[in-house]
Amino acid sequence: MSREKYAQVKLISKPENMLQTVYTACRTCYSSDSPLNIFDSDSAHDKEKMLKLIKRVISSGHYSTIEHIQVSFAISNISRACSHQLVRHRHMSFSQKSQRYVKEKEQFDYLTPETIENNPELNKRFDEFMSKISDFYLELTQAGIPAEDARAVLPNAASTSMVASLNLRELIHLANLRLCTRAQKEIRMLVKKMCDELTKEEEWLKDYLVPKCERIGYCDEDKSCGRKAVRV
Ligand SMILES: Cc1cc2nc3c(=O)[nH]c(=O)nc-3n(C[C@H](O)[C@H](O)[C@H](O)COP(=O)(O)OP(=O)(O)OC[C@H]3O[C@@H](n4cnc5c(N)ncnc54)[C@H](O)[C@@H]3O)c2cc1C
Repeated sequence: MSREKYAQVKLISKPENMLQTVYTACRTCYSSDSPLNIFDSDSAHDKEKMLKLIKRVISSGHYSTIEHIQVSFAISNISRACSHQLVRHRHMSFSQKSQRYVKEKEQFDYLTPETIENNPELNKRFDEFMSKISDFYLELTQAGIPAEDARAVLPNAASTSMVASLNLRELIHLANLRLCTRAQKEIRMLVKKMCDELTKEEEWLKDYLVPKCERIGYCDEDKSCGRKAVRV
């Protein structure tokens, strides 16, 4: 059984000079000067000036300028249900703990959804069910069934871990989709932690790492949470 309720997330890699890099990309599009000079110029050390240009360029949809920034996260304690949703994002790169190479030796870790956890009777039966699955999994592997086949009985709730990398454009897209309350709570909490990790160091990104309604100004979902007015 998993001890932590939600994902553990750590930002493990990001460029040192993130703002300066994005600024250089933006400025290169509109300047007769070379990117080499722009990168070393005084303006590439003036935070206010850089942010003014970057905001203008991003809001005009010129997104190639933010694709130069790649960030990586170490993620653990998420369910396979959650990781399956994350890997649908095609501009991300993943290295995920293998259920072929890593054989479970005892009760596998799993994540209990909050709605089940909040119901003591169902929570108890959920734990019993996980324990039964574990018993059968161990029976299979002890009978010589390879882990790659025994894993067929492991549930969506089984815990997994991964390193996930993506560029800033994709992170903004991920946040816009997965911070929306229409996204399942587990992935919403995961993506929030990823965004929080980055904005701790790059506060200027707070305006972009938001649910999509904050960016477009209205809600385009069928079932709205009411945060923004629904598009008519
Ligand atoms: C609330 C919610 C509910 C969902 N429910 C379901 C569901 O019931 N069933 C289901 O199957 N999925 C579901 N999904 C997953 C969803 O359909 C997408 O697969 C997932 O959100 C990845 O989004 P994306 O394709 O926009 O982004 P990414 O794969 O991250 O790509 C980013 C952007 O790149 C562009 N792009 C990428 N690949 C292509 C391509 N091949 N062609 C053209 N443009 C491309 C698009 O503009 C895309 O928006 C759900 C997602 C959410 C947020």
